[in-house]
Amino acid sequence: MERVLVSACLLGRKVRYDGGAKTSEDELLAAWNAEGRLVPFCPEVAGGLPIPRPPAEIEGGAGGAAVLAGTARILTPDGDDVTEAFVEGARRALDAARAAGARVAILKEGSPSCGSLRVYDGTFAGRTTPGQGVTTALLEQNGIRVFNEDDIAAAARHLREG
Ligand code: SF4
Repeated sequence: MERVLVSACLLGRKVRYDGGAKTSEDELLAAWNAEGRLVPFCPEVAGGLPIPRPPAEIEGGAGGAAVLAGTARILTPDGDDVTEAFVEGARRALDAARAAGARVAILKEGSPSCGSLRVYDGTFAGRTTPGQGVTTALLEQNGIRVFNEDDIAAAARHLREG
C-alpha cells in the first residue's frame, strides 16, 4: 500500500499560521487515513516556525522554484525574511516523502509552502497568482507529484496508473 504525504492541516492538525486547521472532508482522503497510508507533514513547522506565526508570502508573487533558486524571498507583512525556514521545511518534506516511499503528495492549495496551482501575490491584499509553493516546487523537481485537496481523485488516478 503506497504511502502519500499530506499537509498536516488537511488532517485536522492545528498547524496553520493562525493556529487553526483546514480539515478536509474528502471521503477518499478519510479512507486512506483509516488505512494508515497517509504521512501528515507541515513544512513550516518542520522548518522551525512557531504556531501561530505571521502570515508570509513570496515576494513579487514568484513561485517556489524562484525561492529555491535564490531569486525570490518569503516575507512577513513586517518585512521579516523567513525564506530559510521555508526552504528548510521543504527539504524536510522531501526527506519525509522519500523515507515513506511516497510518489504523490496532497498539499493545501494557496500556501507559500504547499500551494500547487496558486500562491498569494506578495502584497498581502488577499490576491492570488498562478504558481507553486516552495515545498511543492522541491517535491515536483524530485519526481513527486503534488495535487491539491480539491483534486484527490487525480492523485488516486496517478497512483493507479503509475
Ligand atoms: Fe498546512 Fe502546508 Fe501551511 Fe503547514 S505549511 S499549515 S501543512 S498549508
